[in-house]
Amino acid sequence: MIETERVVSKGARLQPFILTGYHGVPTHGSVTIQAFDREQRWRRALAGLDKWWGIALLSVFIPVAHFLLVPSFFVYGLGQFFQRLGTAEVAAAPRGTCPDCGAEQVLELAPRWRAPQPVTCRHCGRGLRLTLPNPP
Ligand SMILES: [Zn+2]
Repeated sequence: MIETERVVSKGARLQPFILTGYHGVPTHGSVTIQAFDREQRWRRALAGLDKWWGIALLSVFIPVAHFLLVPSFFVYGLGQFFQRLGTAEVAAAPRGTCPDCGAEQVLELAPRWRAPQPVTCRHCGRGLRLTLPNPP
């Protein structure tokens, strides 16, 4: 079975992967990887800052709780800003079949794309390992 990377849209590509469990034959799945260039990273980072600081600003009007909410959202916004600024690739819609229980599902991955990475089956709860197929 030969799977090759193909370009889905600008900056996004379909990345095939292999899921390995404790038992069973490793299965194949795929994920859409969205890559961001420098400008896109800045735009995403600023959008995140805008959103969370906007929420912080709205929290000013909540009595008492604003002492906690305003600084919290402010700091969280900064955290999101730097996280997004450093995120070059994001994984979206990862789909795969669990090699242990055979359930096809949308997998939950770390927000920042990396491989290999551990994933958990939503159905049987077993820990799986996501790896990239060997280059041909
Ligand atoms: Zn499973």
